[in-house]
Amino acid sequence: MPNKFVFIFSALISFLPMESMAGPAADKVAQRNREPYAGYAKTCGFPILFARTHTVSLARIDARLGKIIVLDPVLNYPAQDRHRRYLIAHECAHHVLSHTTHSGLWKRMQEKGVEDQELSADCWAAEALVKAGLPEDVRFMADSFYRKGLFSPGSGYPSGVQRSTLVYHCLKSAQRRQAAIDLSSSEQ
Ligand SMILES: [Zn+2]
Repeated sequence: MPNKFVFIFSALISFLPMESMAGPAADKVAQRNREPYAGYAKTCGFPILFARTHTVSLARIDARLGKIIVLDPVLNYPAQDRHRRYLIAHECAHHVLSHTTHSGLWKRMQEKGVEDQELSADCWAAEALVKAGLPEDVRFMADSFYRKGLFSPGSGYPSGVQRSTLVYHCLKSAQRRQAAIDLSSSEQ
């Protein structure tokens, strides 16, 4: 990417005002989705809005609402429950791991930046859902990523197989950790 473009992009980002951190959400749609899975309010708590997006879901800092998660309304169908919870955890991870801040957005534009951030958000999501008692959601997503095959969908995104492999690995290690915690609490 030409340096000039990076400079212009950074300059534009630096114009984003401090009120982009403003909150909390007064939005009714957001309020209805406080706790999509156990532990969300405590670890994430970002308002969830439903609007058409090019990417099905995204995490961004809104000038009015602060850190938000935007989901495509299609994810509200009951058949999308697992997919929706996974994407909420994944987008939450982008905020928690500071991918949506100025420096996070800058890192995303570097070599392998998108791949790094996507895979770390996937692993974080897998762990959060195991903690919430929803390992089946994670397995479902690992399987559906796998079906997308070996090729990257573009824009630096990892391939489905790459994501599936990592998600499955994170699922297994989170389950081992959870089992150890359960065992030690049952021995007390
Ligand atoms: Zn992502």
